[in-house]
Amino acid sequence: MGSVIPPEVIEEIKSRSDIVEVIGSFVQLKRAGSAGYKGLCPFHQEKTPSFHVDGSRQMFHCFGCGKGGDVVRFIMDKESLTFVDALHMLASRAGVVIPEYAGSGDREAARARGSQRERLLALNEAMAAFFSENLRRDPRSPAALYLRGRGLSIEDAMRFRIGAAPEGWTGGLEFARSRGFTDAEMLSAGLARQKEDSGRCYDQFRGRLTFAIANEHGRICGFSARSLEAKPADGGKYINTPETPVFHKGSLLYGLAAARKAIAECGHAILCEGQMDTIAFHRAGVDCAVAPLGTAFTPEQAKILRRYTSRLLLAFDSDGAGRKAVERAAEILLPLSMDVRVIAIPGGKDPDELFSTGGAEAVRGLAGTARPLISVLVSRLQGKFDLKTPVGRGEAAAWIAGFLKRVENRVELEGYAAEAAEALSVSVEAIYSELAGQRRLDRRREGFTPETRREPVPALRTEAPGVYPAALLSLLELAVNSSDAARRIAELVDPGELASKDPVTEALNTVLAAAVNGEFDEGIGEVRDALTERPVPEISRILIEHTPCPDMERAVSDSVAEFRRIRARDKKKELMTKLRNASSVEEKMALLKAISQLA
Ligand SMILES: [Zn+2]
Repeated sequence: MGSVIPPEVIEEIKSRSDIVEVIGSFVQLKRAGSAGYKGLCPFHQEKTPSFHVDGSRQMFHCFGCGKGGDVVRFIMDKESLTFVDALHMLASRAGVVIPEYAGSGDREAARARGSQRERLLALNEAMAAFFSENLRRDPRSPAALYLRGRGLSIEDAMRFRIGAAPEGWTGGLEFARSRGFTDAEMLSAGLARQKEDSGRCYDQFRGRLTFAIANEHGRICGFSARSLEAKPADGGKYINTPETPVFHKGSLLYGLAAARKAIAECGHAILCEGQMDTIAFHRAGVDCAVAPLGTAFTPEQAKILRRYTSRLLLAFDSDGAGRKAVERAAEILLPLSMDVRVIAIPGGKDPDELFSTGGAEAVRGLAGTARPLISVLVSRLQGKFDLKTPVGRGEAAAWIAGFLKRVENRVELEGYAAEAAEALSVSVEAIYSELAGQRRLDRRREGFTPETRREPVPALRTEAPGVYPAALLSLLELAVNSSDAARRIAELVDPGELASKDPVTEALNTVLAAAVNGEFDEGIGEVRDALTERPVPEISRILIEHTPCPDMERAVSDSVAEFRRIRARDKKKELMTKLRNASSVEEKMALLKAISQLA
């Protein structure tokens, strides 16, 4: 994901992400003016709306805290994402596919890193083919028999890139060498290990069923391998590729590359416990299913899914471990404001078993049975606690509050608190007071004071006096609101007078040049886009205000005159300082002359 996204793809993502629609899914917006909307700012606390969204200029600006920019900037700030990650999130929302390898950059180191990554990915791809071939070759191998026992044909195995690692110690290494890969590459791809004493290399996966793991872009980057013995001598039931430059277990999801399109289409993702369940869903034609890699679901994986959808259905086993897994997932997902639902699988089965007994139809019906997460947790209270006694109800309230305290959206929290209160036959106030108590305790435990825990509220910035001269800001304001004004300013002002490198002057130069070339609107777009990387409250304010100007000619000449006066004053100050420090007579004379010309 560190890859460069080509400019035309960025353009496509932006053009398919209407800012009013995108922000509207985070903030309740009301119409204000022809193409404008406003709402309560998501970046600072306020009671009256000062957060404006402009459909015509595709930008936002908050008059309270000064945050502003385009749709990408909004997602970066709202979700605390980098530019590239924000684009990925918008792309999946808009159904735009980002090609993985584009523009390698020109730095030698980056290229070397890229080519090492590329080698490791190629090696993984080759090994996946090798494992598949190994599985196909012997239909009576333990791996083939196991698969058949699970109702998977050899075609299914090929489709899901399932294979078999050979018995013995060096089958994989020998194959890799025959394809021109070195033992060092096998080691850094995590496909081989090295004996400490002799330095000899041997295969990481031996006599196991292998599941190829693809990254988000469908490139194979590692394996998860299941033992075919009851008591595996070489580690657990499943062993994975260790961490490598291309394989980071905690941020990979099994099946995601195949699920991306389906997630965008159906608006949700299904999270299962493991590979076999994911495969059962995909075989049933439910392609939006993914799973963590044999470990607990991580916050990192949650954030990846959040880029694709805000609705997640959990399809975990209904046994004790599955219930625990739902509760753990709840702790991670609730703070992300995701709409989480829980699928109940009939007969206490897992999706894989359901596929074997009920077929594709039964698996396809599962999504429809999903219930809201908090409701599911509330319904567990009855079985977990003795709700007939006050003590039992108190314990139950404490347990459910442990989840509710992670819900950050006030509106959602209110609904859930009411649900919990009803289930426990207590007042909503009782639930809130339990919540407040737990939060206090958490703060004390973590050693945080409320001040350091809260995100810093940005200081109120409106005019930013002193940073940019008012005359410069009014020139920009005139220029962005009328191409005639922009052309007039370009006639009156010398390029040399606008040579300073601050963002406001740069924005003004961009608009003036665009207006002169008959590309006024493109120029405005360029100024807005520059705010993505470098937000400047003064500029986003000016862009969103659309200040009308009744007497353009006069306003332009007044502003130009004022701008020159300010510039002359600053220049004079600068020369006076130089004069004080000048050593030679010639230098002093020259400076005096320059000063007299300014006045
Ligand atoms: Zn604000």
